[in-house]
Amino acid sequence: MHATVKKKVELRKEYSSIIAVDMGARWVGVSVAPHRNKPKFYGKRIREVRRKYFWLRRKLGREKKLRAIKKIEHKEKRIVNDELHKIAKDIVDEAERHNAIIAIGNLNGVRNNNKGRKVNRKVNSIPFYRMKEYNKASERGILVIEVPEFNTSKQCSKCGSMNTKRPSQGVFICKDCGYQINADVNGAKNILKRAHA
Ligand SMILES: [Zn+2]
Repeated sequence: MHATVKKKVELRKEYSSIIAVDMGARWVGVSVAPHRNKPKFYGKRIREVRRKYFWLRRKLGREKKLRAIKKIEHKEKRIVNDELHKIAKDIVDEAERHNAIIAIGNLNGVRNNNKGRKVNRKVNSIPFYRMKEYNKASERGILVIEVPEFNTSKQCSKCGSMNTKRPSQGVFICKDCGYQINADVNGAKNILKRAHA
C-alpha cells in the first residue's frame, strides 16, 4: 500500500540564520551556523555505543551465543535510534531559538536507489531524511532545505579551490590557500555557503 498524506503547514516568512548540517563519516553530523562561532559535533554517544557493541558481538560470537547476539543487536538499534532523535531535536530546537533555516546536504537521488552500502549507511544515519523528523520541523514553522552535497568534502570552504588533500580522514588541507580544518567542519561550511547562495 502506498499512502500520501497532505498537511498544510505555516512556514515563517523571514529567517535570520542558517544551520548547515553535514553528515560526516566520523561523526553522525557536524553543524555550523553564523549565529555561533563553534561547530557542533553530534553523535559522540553513538560512536561509543557502536564500539561497545562491536566488541560485545565479537565476544559472544566466539562463545557461539547466537541468541544473545540477536538480543543485543535490538538493544543497540534502539539506543542508536534514540540518540538520532535527540540529535534531530537538538537541531530543530536551535533552529527555533535562532529563527534559522536548516540546510542539509543532498546526495543526489541516493535515497531512491541502491548505490552501495557506504552511501546508504551514511544516508540512513541522517535523521532529517526521515520524513518524521522533517515533518516535525515544518510543523514548527522551520524550513528545511537540501543543497547539493556534490564535492562538499573535496572543495575548500575558504577559497573554493579543489586542489586539496586529506592526509587523514579527519583533516582537510587546501593546497592553494593553506586552510587547514577538521574535514567534517569544512563540509558543513560548504553546505552553509551553498545554502546562502
Ligand atoms: Zn583554499
